Amino acid sequence: MESQRGNLMAEEEFSELAAARRIQRLTSHISPAVTAPSQLPLVQTEACSSRLKKLEVNGEALSLHMRGKHMDVQEKVFEFFNSRPDLQTPIEISTDEHRELCMRQLLALVREAGVRPFRYVADDPEKYFAISEAVGSVDMSLGIKMGVQFRLYKNSFEVLINIGFGSNVQGLQTTATFDPMKDEFVIDTPHDGAIKWWIGNAAVHGKFATVFARLILPTHDSKGVSDMGVHAFIVPIRDMKTHQTLPGVEIQDCGHKVGLNGVDNGALRFRSVRIPRDNLLNRFGDVSRDGKYTSSLPTINKRFAATLGELVGGRVGLAYASVGVLKISATIAIRYSLLRQQFGPPRQPEVSILDYQSHQHKLMPMLASTYAYHFATVHLVKKYSEMKKTHDEQLVADVHALSAGLKSYVTSYTAKALSVCREACGGHGYAAVNRFGSLRNDHDIFQTFEGDNTVLLQQVAGDLLKQYKEKFEGGTLTVTWSYLRESMNSYLAQPNPVTARWEGEDHLRDPKFQLDAFRYRTSRLLQSVAMRLKKHSKTLGTFGAWNRCLNHLLTLAESHIESVILAKFIDAVQSCPDPSARAALKLVCDLYALDRIWKDIGTYRNVDYVAPNKAKAIHKLTEYLSFQVRNVAKELVDAFELPDHVTRAPIAMQSDAYAQYTQVVGF
Ligand SMILES: Cc1cc2nc3c(=O)[nH]c(=O)nc-3n(C[C@H](O)[C@H](O)[C@H](O)COP(=O)(O)OP(=O)(O)OC[C@H]3O[C@@H](n4cnc5c(N)ncnc54)[C@H](O)[C@@H]3O)c2cc1C
Repeated sequence: MESQRGNLMAEEEFSELAAARRIQRLTSHISPAVTAPSQLPLVQTEACSSRLKKLEVNGEALSLHMRGKHMDVQEKVFEFFNSRPDLQTPIEISTDEHRELCMRQLLALVREAGVRPFRYVADDPEKYFAISEAVGSVDMSLGIKMGVQFRLYKNSFEVLINIGFGSNVQGLQTTATFDPMKDEFVIDTPHDGAIKWWIGNAAVHGKFATVFARLILPTHDSKGVSDMGVHAFIVPIRDMKTHQTLPGVEIQDCGHKVGLNGVDNGALRFRSVRIPRDNLLNRFGDVSRDGKYTSSLPTINKRFAATLGELVGGRVGLAYASVGVLKISATIAIRYSLLRQQFGPPRQPEVSILDYQSHQHKLMPMLASTYAYHFATVHLVKKYSEMKKTHDEQLVADVHALSAGLKSYVTSYTAKALSVCREACGGHGYAAVNRFGSLRNDHDIFQTFEGDNTVLLQQVAGDLLKQYKEKFEGGTLTVTWSYLRESMNSYLAQPNPVTARWEGEDHLRDPKFQLDAFRYRTSRLLQSVAMRLKKHSKTLGTFGAWNRCLNHLLTLAESHIESVILAKFIDAVQSCPDPSARAALKLVCDLYALDRIWKDIGTYRNVDYVAPNKAKAIHKLTEYLSFQVRNVAKELVDAFELPDHVTRAPIAMQSDAYAQYTQVVGF
């Protein structure tokens, strides 16, 4: 898609622009009312954007709408670390020093700043995630350490670290065998291949682990034992007083990592480690003194889903924190690009690099996406909080699918965006002080932990297929995604040849057109993959058919998540009480939607959902909106309200253009 965009540029565009102007003039002579201004090419190519009328943005109102009621606690975190240089992570630091500093940062946050994340994990998750975003902005290692310490601690009922699994959790091999004689479980890692790696806090600081293991019960039949599936157990790993590793527990340090070196990751192996029967976390399944198993859930699969469901908060937190990283990097890159001047028309001052169309193309849709993901993850956190209060079964399923989808989609986007931002800042982007290196290294693993992104997207696709099957095979449809229920049939009808030709700006900026386009694509992808799976499963079996359609399934999941993101963004625009902030949000929302449609224009053209001229109109409007967003880019990044010590605003100090920084950026 990128090359498509490139191919459409330059001379062809300019000659079209001139031709369109001539046609407009002629048309207006014949019939002045026929041609709406919005149907004409809109892109201004002048380097000096300030000639265009600028949207006035009420930054305070925008910021309030963005960050809402948890602004105060985030500011408390920022101010605390700003006032404590001894707690700020230096650019150069060894792994051991970073681990110790991270522990000190965490203790100081709780004991000195009085921020008590633990309290909010269950009672007010929205507040917890706001704290987590701010803490992660200071040092991502701290955000992750806090997450392991408090969120996993609370979620897995009074334990300090979590030891889990690779991607295939159901296939884990660690066992917890009940010994009725001693009323204990015996934890065993059967072989080296079953060792659990990468457990946060295990290498140095952790004293307990929540261990996910297969529960094995003795039986009186010929097999002698029965496997009850995966359950969670609390296992002490170090002595409370001496901090020595306990007998039967082997811990290996994972050592220096690509990033997040403030967190001490380790590998654990258990050799016949005994724990009391009470250490089974028994909410979803229990073992009595005489070895009888009871559970309110009828099958191993249901118990497994419920046990892991408790850990969904990790994905919610990562999606939210990833948007935090995106805000930081977009802010640094945009502020720098406003300041940095390179080249210009002959005998005139150099222009800001953000006035180059190519630079706008790199950064403005990214800024729009940052806003889009912000509102989507805020929505996710709200749903998660509701789920924690009600334990409603449908809501649990919704949050599971939404968190898997948003975590994978947003973290993949941010990982790529970090490279774009670094490159957009030229050589200065490579200076460690300007943070792109550490942000990129720390954030990279977000794509893997708490569920590998490719694996998670498959869960989203699986969820959609289940709902599709229910709808078209006569079952009752209890769907999360109401658009599938209400409009699937109309989305699957042939595209309307009349609307396929509408090119007016009002139409293209109409949220209905935008959402319909997103949902149409998802519905088509869903229908076609369902048919392909059916066909291939006859010869390849279920697993083989899934693998044959895997890329298709991943595209479906991403397309669906984009539909959800856009819907939430449109809601956020419409609910913004301040008219000027609303106008700014509408601008970025339109840019987000049209940029996404343009990036996938081949799909829409293939089925004539948009006619060739409409495709061009979308392209031109996208560039025009990028240009408009550039004009309020400063206000839009300011609304994130990130302090200088987080965004390294003085990036420009290293640049010869620093003197102009205050004038251009307004600092
Ligand atoms: C720094 C760090 C911290 C961590 N912290 C913790 C922690 O505190 N607690 C904890 O329990 N775990 C932790 N982990 C472990 C983490 O959750 C796992 O690494 C993660 O779940 C991925 O599993 P894996 O490493 O086995 O990768 P694999 O599953 O082996 O994946 C390797 C590759 O294969 C691909 N792949 C695998 N399966 C499929 C499939 N079905 N379809 C298509 N592609 C597939 C993946 O996309 C990936 O690219 C941590 C890991 C790291 C690196």
